[in-house]
Order: sequence, then structure tokens, then C-alpha cells
Amino acid sequence: MSSQPHIALPWVVRRTGLPLLSLRCVDCPSRSATTGRGRFRVNANGKLLDVWLLVRCVSCDRTSKLTVHERARVRSLDPALLDGYHSNDPALVAATLLDPQFARRLGIALDWQGAWQLDAPPAPLDESWPRHVAVVFEDAVPIRPDRLIAQGLRLSRNEVLRRIKCDISLRRPTSVGFTFIVMTKTATY
Ligand SMILES: [Zn+2]
Repeated sequence: MSSQPHIALPWVVRRTGLPLLSLRCVDCPSRSATTGRGRFRVNANGKLLDVWLLVRCVSCDRTSKLTVHERARVRSLDPALLDGYHSNDPALVAATLLDPQFARRLGIALDWQGAWQLDAPPAPLDESWPRHVAVVFEDAVPIRPDRLIAQGLRLSRNEVLRRIKCDISLRRPTSVGFTFIVMTKTATY
């Protein structure tokens, strides 16, 4: 075994799709909606524009309109942005949905389950040495560190709580990079 510190590749969290929206359906008991492929509706009224993001109930397909711009002056909007709304630009759909102000203004929460992945380089746990792991977020996906670490190391959540040393709360969702240490099974601390 080398005496050099072991440089491990970081774990990377990536977005794989768009999150669902926790939105109560007015027609059925569902509380979940999807942007699907992503569609805007633009309505011009003289010099004023309304722009909505269309979402569908995941259960009954009912469409709801979420306000993006309300009675905005046409000239106040960047023409490229306006083109994006008209062409249902997927990048603009994502940027609109993931804008924290959008969700906050509408009082909706995003459900990230199934919309992200963890790329953790395979590295068998060497049980004789503590191991340092860095987590980086390629996209701002809020995840509970205990769940992420349990998945990445294939440990139970109880084991994570016992064996992981981390400067941030393991239970509070984060989308900012952090590091943690996996203690050996027999460590006493
Ligand atoms: Zn519904």
C-alpha cells in the first residue's frame, strides 16, 4: 500500500430529466403534474403578452397553465426569449421550471424522484482506512446527503448515520457540493 494520500474521483450528481410538480389536480385526487415535453402558451393582447407554462396531471392528463409572464410589455421581453416561448425551446422549459422564483411565486414544490442520477466511480470500501469522498453537483438537484451516501455506498441509512462524518447536516437536502468521510467499521470515535 502506498503512503501517498488516496485521490479518489468525486461523485457527480446529474439531472436526467425534469422534476414533477406537486400540484393538486382540480379534477382528480392526484397531486402530481408533469411538463411532459414542455409547452408554452403565448397570448398577445395589443402590446401586452401573457405567457404560461403548460403542465399535465400525471393521472388524468388535465392541463393547467402556470403563469410565466402576466401582461408583460412585448418590448420588455428579449426577442430571443420570446422566440423560445413560441418554439417551446426545451432549454427554456427547463430554465423556467427550475427557476426557484417561479416555484416560489406559484407555491409549488418540485419532486425530483427519478429525475437525477449519481455517478459514483466504483471503489470497494477498504475497511482498514477511512475514506474521503467529495460530491459535486453538475445540476442543482436538492438531495438529502444520507440518501445519496446510502445509495452510493450501498449502505443502510443506519449505517450511514453511524459511519459517516460530514460537516453538513445529513438530513437536510442540499444541492451544493460537500465532502464526507467513511469511517471504518471498527472505528471508535
Ligand atoms: Zn388529475
